[in-house]
Amino acid sequence: MLKKILKSESCAKCRLCCVFDRYDVWETPVFTEKICKLICAEKPDTEFISKDGGFIFKVKELDENELFTCPALTETGCMLGDDKPFDCRIWPFRIMNVGGRRAIAIASICREMYSRPLSGLVDFLKKGPADEIFAYADLHPEIVKPYYDGYPVLLFEKESML
Ligand code: SF4
Repeated sequence: MLKKILKSESCAKCRLCCVFDRYDVWETPVFTEKICKLICAEKPDTEFISKDGGFIFKVKELDENELFTCPALTETGCMLGDDKPFDCRIWPFRIMNVGGRRAIAIASICREMYSRPLSGLVDFLKKGPADEIFAYADLHPEIVKPYYDGYPVLLFEKESML
């Protein structure tokens, strides 16, 4: 979905969104059962817990400087290719519940996208991706995350669906 504005080479060089510390471990993606099975076929030790109809990684408590690397990350990038979870396909956009209304926010940690004018990102979302993200969330409400401070909100949905 983001191929028009985010080059895959930029992501391949970074991979920041595939590694989590104790403060952003809540950001690990939400998976469907099908994708869980794909990961377990390659990494049988991976554990998941169910979350609102989807699945998230079971992550042990992390120490101050400890990192959790997504088990789907390999030397050559994400092993899931086009089967990446929706959360990863829209990164660094996040769909969040902001005071009872769904909104699309951006993770400022993604330097590549956050260095662009926010107005340009809003324009991009309005040309179709926003509708696509809200429509996916209608079917998979488990991807809607509680609002987290520090995530600039780019766009609210027209009417509350929560
Ligand atoms: S599923 Fe793939 S893209 Fe998503 S966090 Fe894991 S390695 Fe990264």
